[in-house]
Amino acid sequence: MFQYRKSAPIAALIVTYSLTFASGSALAAAAGGSTLPRAESIDKHFDPQGKPPSEHTLKIIREARKSFPFEDTRDYDEASKGFIAPLNEMVIPADGGGTAWDIERYEWLTEGRDFDSIHPSMQRQSELNQKTGLFEINPGIYQIRGLDLANITFVRGKTGWIVFDPLTSLEPARAGLELINEKVERLPVTAVIISHSHGDHFGGVRGVVDPERLEAGGTEIIVPRDFEQHTISENVYAGNAMNRRLFYQYGVLLPASPYGHAGQGLAQNVSAGRIGVLPATHVVEEDIEEFDVDGIRMIFQNTPRTEAPSEMNTYLPDMKALWMAENVSNVIHNIYTLRGAQVRDALAWSKYISRAYHMFGQEADVMFASHSWPRWGSERIGEVLRAQRDQYAHLNNQVLHLANQGVTINQIHNVYEQPDNLKQEWFTRGYHGSMEHNSRGVWMRYLGFWDANPTTLIPLSPEDSAPLYVEMMGGSKKIIKKGQKLFDEGKYRHAQEILTKLVWAEPDNKPARALLADTWEQFGYQQENPGLRNSFLAGAFELRNGIPIGNTANSLGPDMIQAMSTELFLNFLGIRMDSRKAEGLEFSINLITPDNGEMFAIDMSNATLTNVEGFLNEDPDLTITIDRSDLENIMIGEKSFAASIEEGIAQTEGDVSLLKQLGATMVNFELGFEIVPGTSTGPQVDLELNTFEVNDESIQMRGE
Ligand SMILES: [Zn+2]
Repeated sequence: MFQYRKSAPIAALIVTYSLTFASGSALAAAAGGSTLPRAESIDKHFDPQGKPPSEHTLKIIREARKSFPFEDTRDYDEASKGFIAPLNEMVIPADGGGTAWDIERYEWLTEGRDFDSIHPSMQRQSELNQKTGLFEINPGIYQIRGLDLANITFVRGKTGWIVFDPLTSLEPARAGLELINEKVERLPVTAVIISHSHGDHFGGVRGVVDPERLEAGGTEIIVPRDFEQHTISENVYAGNAMNRRLFYQYGVLLPASPYGHAGQGLAQNVSAGRIGVLPATHVVEEDIEEFDVDGIRMIFQNTPRTEAPSEMNTYLPDMKALWMAENVSNVIHNIYTLRGAQVRDALAWSKYISRAYHMFGQEADVMFASHSWPRWGSERIGEVLRAQRDQYAHLNNQVLHLANQGVTINQIHNVYEQPDNLKQEWFTRGYHGSMEHNSRGVWMRYLGFWDANPTTLIPLSPEDSAPLYVEMMGGSKKIIKKGQKLFDEGKYRHAQEILTKLVWAEPDNKPARALLADTWEQFGYQQENPGLRNSFLAGAFELRNGIPIGNTANSLGPDMIQAMSTELFLNFLGIRMDSRKAEGLEFSINLITPDNGEMFAIDMSNATLTNVEGFLNEDPDLTITIDRSDLENIMIGEKSFAASIEEGIAQTEGDVSLLKQLGATMVNFELGFEIVPGTSTGPQVDLELNTFEVNDESIQMRGE
């Protein structure tokens, strides 16, 4: 059935790590193992309960083949232009064992076949993303595509390679450097420019940087303003929930298959090797900054609050080359990210594109980005920049226009429409951010979750409301009969409305679960947006097979812990603490880390753990003094607090038993919580028998 490649101890897409605060107060960091699943055959559904596309799905897919502008084939020319060499390896082993990268499992996309279980517009995007290899995109600028979710780009400096965005993990980044050295010119890496704070753009930095050269000042690492603050912080607090939701948005456990994972819009998928981060040697602080990097003139444009909280574009005036980071690639991006994230600012995004267009876009000969293929010529570059500028502004403005006339978050995705012109352009299709979830995101950003209907203000939980619906609808048999009729008519959105109620009311109702799974699957096949497709297909999978269970891999590299502030770590302990276990506890702790001059007043009161930096409690129950560098060993799990105290690495004054009390309130978050009711008691399949391995409890940080 399935074939799983076990991969390295660092998770795909993510850095995952858990913080345990158990006996001895050790803080263990664990990174999840990940899977790069393959299907055995692309002609057969990987799940024995899976179904082929229905006649209704076929109709939608065949109509799309006629109505989309397939006659515009410029993307195919652009995705092939400047080809120098294929990748040396399509499957890259991970240094820690297993597989770091596997793009071979999507090679069926190059066979020129039409798959009726993939929306043709999405399939086209995935075919283009499967045009992998090394390309010369302008004299002195080379790009490798297909080594990861992101591209790695090399600019020939005066004395060496300037790398733009060194991928998610070390192994593919190293393979990229080897490929350019082998096919173009063997040179040292003199600079790394990291466009933004998402993991797929910096995690592989150690694959291209020689530590000795860095130490000697021979390699620059250049990052946008506030980069270090955002590399870790963006996704820590709700990390476990976000990681769980990645099963949906990124379909991380769906095998690569026409019936499963068929690409991710930005590229095919994310590598799963070793992740690291290195401190910057230069932070671009100004809105616009110009300086030479290894003899190449560069103008940097900070674009905060766009695709990432910290991001920058770069213009190379002497090469007439415009690097648009991830602000403009060949997709409309997420304003709202399905795995969960704070909603982005579509209007700010639009304006930064507009500024780039006016400052650089009209004279650039080539525009390249951290995902997908470049554009050449000022006409084409202008066309894409203006269209994306307009699309983000349109999302912002038209959603608010409608909201101001009473359209709610529960209606906006059915009312909002792209302008006609933009619908007809491949470069403004919602391959990452669908118009449906982006329009809801914009509404959410300005107005929050409430549609202002008093009934939805303090609603029943679904498990409490669903039984009432089922009773009033006349019971499960009637619902299944009607659900089947709606399914047979291809009215999948209607069918899911009533079947979901039944599954919530009766989680063990097998026919209801099976029919809802079939419904989600068909609707998933119909989606043009990979995140939506994956979400429906993953939901169907869990209904049929239960939540995948897995094991724990170990050990996050020290880079990430070093990049995590003590305050963030303490804040997260407050989240990990189960308040219900802390009722009645009351104490105060001072934490002092002399080597970096920080101090924290930590308070346990009212079943809440708080901390404040820069203050100490006057009469603490316990004072801990430990260097931040030693604390990191505890954070990463290499040493326990108890051992640190015993060895004199940490000095304490007061009641040390409080650490034990505190440790007893800590909970390790489990990744396998239920999203669909009844799935945790489903026929969970065990790793050895064909199935899944997932990350352990975790914090995750990643981008997109
Ligand atoms: Zn990215």
